[in-house]
Amino acid sequence: VGILQSPISSFSRLLNQFQQSLVSYGRIMDIMALKPQIVDTPSAVNFPKIKDGVQFDHVTFTYDVDSPEASQKPAIRDVSFRIPFGEQTALVGHSGAGKSTLTELLDRLYDIDSGKITFDGVSIKDIKLRSLRQNIAIVSQDIFIIDGTIGDNIKYGTPGATQDQLWEVAKLADIDIFIKGLPDQMKTQVGERGIKLSGGQKQRIAIARALLKDAQIVVLDEATASLDNESEKTIQHALENLMEQRTSLVIAHRLSTIHNANQILVVDDGKIVEQGTHTSLMAQDGYYKQLYEAQFE
Ligand code: ADP
Ligand code: MG
Repeated sequence: VGILQSPISSFSRLLNQFQQSLVSYGRIMDIMALKPQIVDTPSAVNFPKIKDGVQFDHVTFTYDVDSPEASQKPAIRDVSFRIPFGEQTALVGHSGAGKSTLTELLDRLYDIDSGKITFDGVSIKDIKLRSLRQNIAIVSQDIFIIDGTIGDNIKYGTPGATQDQLWEVAKLADIDIFIKGLPDQMKTQVGERGIKLSGGQKQRIAIARALLKDAQIVVLDEATASLDNESEKTIQHALENLMEQRTSLVIAHRLSTIHNANQILVVDDGKIVEQGTHTSLMAQDGYYKQLYEAQFE
């Protein structure tokens, strides 16, 4: 009987694991359908203090699709790159290229088929899952708001946070003034039984959450894609506060926001097809330049 796990309990366990890294709700539902469990080895270690960077070495990954007629084509094919410590690396490419998949491999939502992912030389498979996910904060466009207070939402994943810490991250996320104007401030109910938050406000709560987590690595997966132009501009400052002093991996929905990235990786059909800075890629006159110019047509 032990083999038959209640779907509800395994769902909440998964939800807990993934909320650690603030992965989007929709993705959790996808991952729910997967069979193999990713678990710690007995000798798993804590996430290292990153000084060098993250390395993908000949990484290939195929989604485990359940239907027999589904193609078994790898979503990521023999990909190698380095995310240097303390810098901003950007991923660009068409929808379906494999950008989100790369960030999910970084968070070990899936194990890779072959190759290696290392953090300062330590293999992802040798790192305790909890520790790995505590050190990677992901902000995507799909924000998970729980029924509870604003404070509960900010400290989601970091339950031990103090009031002072909540206000500190709220300020960095540019949402402190909004919260101060609410009747019950941090104790104001949000979600189904409370006030309704705008897309931009939800996004700032996600940023505050990620700041509170104080992860070494920050991943922004099209974080502002669902916002209008004006909100997108005003949220940029909060995102910069989040990326400051951290190693970041940014999937840009508007290429103008990653102009200054230290490194841009151009992804197409599961492969890295070009890499460089904005200036060097424009000079190459290749795929990046095409993508870039297409935005202004
Ligand atoms: P991007 O973020 O660049 O738009 P994704 O990483 O989401 O691309 O997707 C890369 C490829 O993997 C696409 O072909 C997509 O259809 C496929 N894919 C993404 N998620 C899943 C999943 N959960 N199961 C099966 N295939 C998936
Ligand atoms: Mg994506």
